[in-house]
Amino acid sequence: MESRENPVDPFDLVVFGGTGDLAQRKILPAMFKRFCAGQMPGESRLIGAARRELSSESYRVLVGEALAAHLPARPDGDTLAAFLARIDYVQIDGRGDTGWQDLAALLCPDRIRAFYFSVGPSLFGDLAQRIRAEGLADDQSRIVVEKPFGHDLDTAQRLNADLDRQFMECQIYRIDHYLGKETVQNLMAVRFGNMLFEPLWNSQYIDHIQITVAETVGVAGRGDYYQNAGAMRDMMQNHMMQLLCLIAMEPPAKFDPDAVRDEKLKVIRALDPVEPHHIIRGQYTAAEGVPSFREDVDNPRSKTESFIALRCHLSNWRWAGTPFYLRTGKRLKTRSSQITVVFKDAPHSIFGRESGRHNNELTIQLQPDEGITLDVTIKEPGAGGMKLIDVPLDMSFAEALGPEADGPDAYERLIMDVIRGNQTLFMRNDEVEAAWAWTDPIIKGWELRGDVPKPYDSFTNGPDDSSQLLRRDGREWRGIKR
Ligand code: NAP
Repeated sequence: MESRENPVDPFDLVVFGGTGDLAQRKILPAMFKRFCAGQMPGESRLIGAARRELSSESYRVLVGEALAAHLPARPDGDTLAAFLARIDYVQIDGRGDTGWQDLAALLCPDRIRAFYFSVGPSLFGDLAQRIRAEGLADDQSRIVVEKPFGHDLDTAQRLNADLDRQFMECQIYRIDHYLGKETVQNLMAVRFGNMLFEPLWNSQYIDHIQITVAETVGVAGRGDYYQNAGAMRDMMQNHMMQLLCLIAMEPPAKFDPDAVRDEKLKVIRALDPVEPHHIIRGQYTAAEGVPSFREDVDNPRSKTESFIALRCHLSNWRWAGTPFYLRTGKRLKTRSSQITVVFKDAPHSIFGRESGRHNNELTIQLQPDEGITLDVTIKEPGAGGMKLIDVPLDMSFAEALGPEADGPDAYERLIMDVIRGNQTLFMRNDEVEAAWAWTDPIIKGWELRGDVPKPYDSFTNGPDDSSQLLRRDGREWRGIKR
């Protein structure tokens, strides 16, 4: 079969934080899979960098162990050896003076250079400055920065300024791995590649839109970070906001990075401030065998939320009057990320009241099983008269596309986009700042009021007030299976 891979040019990928959790769980497995797909052409190399004293040989052992632990199947020996032969390690403290010459010696002048900052954000500015000062980057080089991008608007602006001093915006790739998911991109294909949906995609035909990102895990092991972040900063300001942008944006003139990001930015800027009574915050309590949130963050008085649900509005022509309900939380009943577009009822039912209320719903499932479902109303089969039921037109990618559905994961796709120089799926500086400008007053309001999140039982749907948020509007949540 003809290869469906989009070719990339030879590159050197330097992973600062190459020994860390993210590198081991996501970046290294992603690169191995791209290697297997023939996407480390020529003599392309991966260079890990961190403070730990390691030889390249012992780093390769670490990489092999990480792949064994985090790939679904154990890699075959020859392929693994060929991949490891493309890997080096340099010992560098991002704030220190040593190691930079070793790194310079490993980089090839003819290859694309990408520097992945898989380290805490306090190092981003130092790394950017050192890479430039050591002459390791030119105007074709790229840097990739991980979340969190700032703690609030002020810190995000300072981070942007630090990076902007060393690199042009077209060289900076702010990663949000949600944007690398197949279904998220399919959302754009479904909206803008079909005539069917776009004419109905507005407040006249859509009753409301819901976005749920539910996790079953707690914050154990990341307590320090999470205590200072909470669900608002960790999920809402970035992942949820990006999903909202893609579902609500106007059609860009073309599928090009700035055209898409211009439209996403307009969505964020059209967001109204959220009324305090339209926000529910929660904190999980202990359950059998699992600690409470306060125990996980080691703070018996923590006021940080592990759950948030809110109702927001966009002040523009397309969405005037349409509520968007966004909900995310830890230690919920199931792991599920989905967007549901709930269409309005037909204006008049010719089938009478006894046929009940029916409407169309478009569900975009991001995890665990990616796919898109459209609920349509049909007649219930049988001789029982004109009874109506809603049935799904199901497009589970795994079923519809077979092995083709098992494509690259988010990190594979995004890293290859960095190498190709395609920023469409990365956040621009103004987008990030606009998202913080919307988020900051909400958080400040909680701090001023001394707001304390509502406790909720672990492995449930979160606090009851979250159901109430929709119930008082005559609606109910979809997305976390009961
Ligand atoms: P981690 O496990 O603590 O790893 C941090 C890495 O940075 C280590 O390799 C560490 O190695 C290196 N490092 C620390 N200080 C350094 C310095 N001064 N100079 C050079 N290297 C240094 O953290 P992580 O979980 O991998 O996260 C990395 C970044 O990704 C963070 O910004 C995090 O918020 C973000 N992120 C992580 C995840 C995840 O699932 N883990 C998800 C999304 C975003 P040495 O100590 O040997 O230097």
